Amino acid sequence: MNVLSLLEARGFAPVRVSGSRGGEFASPCPGCGGDDRFRSWPEEREAGRWWCRRCGKSGDAIQFLRDFEGLSFGDACRALGWDPGAAVHVPGPAMVPRGKRPWQPVEATEPPSLWCEKAGAFAAWAAERMEDPAAGGEALGFLASRGLRPEIVRAAGLGWNPKDQWRPRPAWGLPEERKPDGREKKLWLPAGIVLPVVRDGAVRRVKVRPSEAGKVPKYFALPGSSMESWTLGQGPAWLVVESELDGLLLHQEAGDLAGVVVLGSANIRPDAWTYGLLKQAARVVVALDFDAAGEKESWRWWAHEFTGARVRPVPVGKDPGEAFQAGVNLRAWVAGVLAEPGG
Ligand SMILES: [Zn+2]
Repeated sequence: MNVLSLLEARGFAPVRVSGSRGGEFASPCPGCGGDDRFRSWPEEREAGRWWCRRCGKSGDAIQFLRDFEGLSFGDACRALGWDPGAAVHVPGPAMVPRGKRPWQPVEATEPPSLWCEKAGAFAAWAAERMEDPAAGGEALGFLASRGLRPEIVRAAGLGWNPKDQWRPRPAWGLPEERKPDGREKKLWLPAGIVLPVVRDGAVRRVKVRPSEAGKVPKYFALPGSSMESWTLGQGPAWLVVESELDGLLLHQEAGDLAGVVVLGSANIRPDAWTYGLLKQAARVVVALDFDAAGEKESWRWWAHEFTGARVRPVPVGKDPGEAFQAGVNLRAWVAGVLAEPGG
C-alpha cells in the first residue's frame, strides 16, 4: 500500500502529471477538495509522500492516515502493515537500532580567542566589500536568487571576499602545519560569499561559498571554525535546518513564528547548549535537506532523540531555498506544520 492506493481507496483517480522524483500525481485533496491541488509521489520514501498546495499539509503514508482517516500513529502503522514499535514517523518508517548506548550531547569547542578576533575582522571587512556595488553585486544577486533580501544580508553580516587570500595559521591562533613537501601550509580565505556564524557576540564559524564553482566544496568552513549549531531568533518553537543560507531564509520568512537552528551539515548533531534549548522547546520541526542518498540516518536520529519532533522536509525541492524558488510560501508552510494537531 502507498499514498496512491490510499487515494484510490477513497475514490480518487490520481493523474500522473510529471516524471519528477519517480512520478508526481495530482488529485483532489482529501482534506480540502479541489481538482488537482493534492500532489503525491508514490515512489518516494517507504510508501510515498504527499503535499496539498492549498491547505499546505504534507507528509508520509502514516501522516495521510492520521490526517484524513483520523487513525492514531499505531493504527496507521498497522493499517500499512508496519510494526508501530519499529516504525519511525519520518520520511517513512524505518528501523531504529535498539539497546545502543544513548547519545550524549557534547559542549561546543570554542575557537581560540585570537581566531575569533581575526575571523571577526575578516567578516567585517568582507561585509564592507558587499556594500560596494561593483564588487558585491554578484554576491547580492546570488543571495537574492535564494530569496534573501538585502536587509537580512546586512543584518547577518554576510560579506564578499573578492579574491583568494592566504594567512599564516599562527596569525589566527592555529597550530602550524606543513605540506607533504615540508612547506608551510597557510590558512586559505577563498574568494566568495562570506558567512559568519556569531554566538555571544563573537564570530565562531566562517563559511565561504567560493565564487569559482567546482574547485572546492560548495561551502568551505575556515579551519578553526566551531562546529556548534547556529541559532537565529527565538522559540518556543524551533526549526532545524542544514545550511546557513536556508536558516537565514526561514528566519526572514517565518522568524516571528519560530526560531531557527542551523546545524551546518546533516550529520552534525546539536551541541550541548543547543540540545538543551531544543529539549525544552514547545515544538521542534526538523527540515533537513531531502536528499535521496545517505541522509536517512540523520532523519532517524532526530525522530528518535526528540520524540515530539515533527520531521518535515520542505514539500517541494530538496531544501528551503529550492522550495522558495519553486514558489512555496515558506511562512504558510511553517505555520501549517506548527498548527498540526497532536503532541
Ligand atoms: Zn488540502
